[in-house]
Amino acid sequence: MLSFLLYHEIGPQPRASANLDCFCIEERFREQMRFLKDNAVPVLSSAEICVQLSCRGTLPQHGVILTFDDADVSFLEYAMPTLENLDFPSTVFAVAGQLGQRANWVKDSRNAIPLMSGQQLRSLPAHRIELGSHSMTHRKLTELTEAQAFAELRDSRAALEDVLDRPILSLAYPHGHYSTRIMEMASTVGYLSAYSTDGQRSFTNAGDRLCIPRKYITCHDDIDTFASKIGLKPPVGRTT
Ligand SMILES: [Zn+2]
Repeated sequence: MLSFLLYHEIGPQPRASANLDCFCIEERFREQMRFLKDNAVPVLSSAEICVQLSCRGTLPQHGVILTFDDADVSFLEYAMPTLENLDFPSTVFAVAGQLGQRANWVKDSRNAIPLMSGQQLRSLPAHRIELGSHSMTHRKLTELTEAQAFAELRDSRAALEDVLDRPILSLAYPHGHYSTRIMEMASTVGYLSAYSTDGQRSFTNAGDRLCIPRKYITCHDDIDTFASKIGLKPPVGRTT
């Protein structure tokens, strides 16, 4: 099974106000990454997937792709050390219009967590961490006019390339919302791949590269549900 996983904030414990679907406890994150290593699961970069799709039109049969939406600062402190330690690639999607600010799209202002600045994003190792766009403002693209949605896609890519001096070829739809028209616009603007959140769907062919389904890994996932989400059995010796 090829699994695209979606993480948000990582930390020691969620705040009382935290959206538990968008939080993963650091200790569990480490356990999940160690489980991938121990089971020799290939951890692939989204760039590798893109190249395989464009050049060969095929996909690896087995592996995991790690993605992190919103580019909040918890990635630096709690995710990156583990990823570096295990030499796993990952993709981080940043909201181009809010670098270095607080997430202003959340319903509960107590969850307005700080987002990485341009300088912090630039400091991420380019050979292991791919950076992608998560739009300019994190609004649902399907609720905007066509001109507004196009501007979100185009301007975020341009702004991130300007700040980061790296090609921005991947996109994560804010809130996972997209449509056929949004996919066409993403392609026109130059994205080679785009990620949604409809994780129940499988990624079957190259035509899906602009709506790649990801599975949330949340605060509720223990190692058993994590294993099941990537198509593996739970660790030996566990009965529940
Ligand atoms: Zn987001």
